[in-house]
Amino acid sequence: MKNWQNLGSLAQARNQNEEAEKNKPKFKIKRVYDLIIIGCGPSGLAASIYASRQKLDFCVITKDVGGMTNLNPYPIENYLGYHYVTGVELEQKFEEHFRSFNPPTIYDKVRKIEKTNQGFLVTTESSNFFDCKAVVIATGRINKPLNVPGELDFAGKGISFCAHCDAPLFRDKVVAVVGGGRTGLDSALQLLNIAKKVYLVEIGNKIREEEPIAKLVKTASKVEVLTSTKVLEIVGDNVVRGIKILKDKKQEIIKVDGIFISVGYGPNTEFLGNLVRMNDRREIIINENNMSSVPGIFAAGDCTSVKEKQVLVAAGEGVKALISASEFLHLGKANILKVVIPIKSKR
Ligand SMILES: Cc1cc2nc3c(=O)[nH]c(=O)nc-3n(C[C@H](O)[C@H](O)[C@H](O)COP(=O)(O)OP(=O)(O)OC[C@H]3O[C@@H](n4cnc5c(N)ncnc54)[C@H](O)[C@@H]3O)c2cc1C
Repeated sequence: MKNWQNLGSLAQARNQNEEAEKNKPKFKIKRVYDLIIIGCGPSGLAASIYASRQKLDFCVITKDVGGMTNLNPYPIENYLGYHYVTGVELEQKFEEHFRSFNPPTIYDKVRKIEKTNQGFLVTTESSNFFDCKAVVIATGRINKPLNVPGELDFAGKGISFCAHCDAPLFRDKVVAVVGGGRTGLDSALQLLNIAKKVYLVEIGNKIREEEPIAKLVKTASKVEVLTSTKVLEIVGDNVVRGIKILKDKKQEIIKVDGIFISVGYGPNTEFLGNLVRMNDRREIIINENNMSSVPGIFAAGDCTSVKEKQVLVAAGEGVKALISASEFLHLGKANILKVVIPIKSKR
């Protein structure tokens, strides 16, 4: 090997060591905890701060800190206390607050949760095992992409995955909502009072008519529904200028200023298998105290059946889940069932 290659690999090895050292937990890994919080987006962060202040015996297992707020390319205008803040700035504030408590944090992906006599066994991708009495699941969700050319190029330049978050940025503009299912109809509804015109683009031969809001959206004068229409490409220069579609075997470009991709999403709940009750989207069904169908498993934020997927909601739900989990730990299962109405499980 040539010298410069040696130097390169040495530098690489040193960087890797430094990286590993930086990521090394600053505490001794203990494998039995009262509580494990999984995920560290707004809901997991809020739960962790409350758990730290309550001095609970807990750890956080997460792939990253900040979750989806890190990915937001647009300003956030709907978080309390800020007229305007970028996702990254808000995440930095969250992370600063979180780290000030120095909560035990393990950077890993949870692979499985199993029930044990004492509570639960959490297994991670790096084959670490943790026993605990209660769990708060705050693992969020992933938006499904369209997978068409232009989608990545125009992220933050006219493409949005969240009408609740970004609709006000498209006041008096022409927009397309892609997806005529539940999510797409909801996006179109959010845009009704804001956009100048809304194209609702659906690949199937009809939109989801059985949804209660379908009629309202379909009959709104500013909405044009395009069924049997396939999106081929998102086009533009510095920003989105149009959407290339295929309809009746003909290609056409519709001029739009913004595109809301609303073809569904999937919660990060695959590691639960059939342990807890879920809805048809595989979101964890929780009661008003954030408890799942299994006593001791609590959930919060975008991975749950709570309809509103927003930073403020996720943070509040994280707090609720933590307070319920803390009651569960203090009072024990028999007593918590008196205070927390459990969900009837089919399992
Ligand atoms: C592009 C975009 C723009 C948005 N704009 C806004 C906005 O303007 N206003 C607003 O209020 N909301 C907005 N949202 C929504 C908001 O970001 C989410 O509602 C919020 O982040 C949900 O928080 P959460 O904690 O439930 O989940 P997430 O933020 O998704 O965090 C989940 C956490 O779980 C971790 N995780 C996942 N699976 C595992 C596993 N198996 N093991 C360990 N860890 C795991 C992840 O690494 C992450 O840390 C936007 C979302 C997107 C994508």
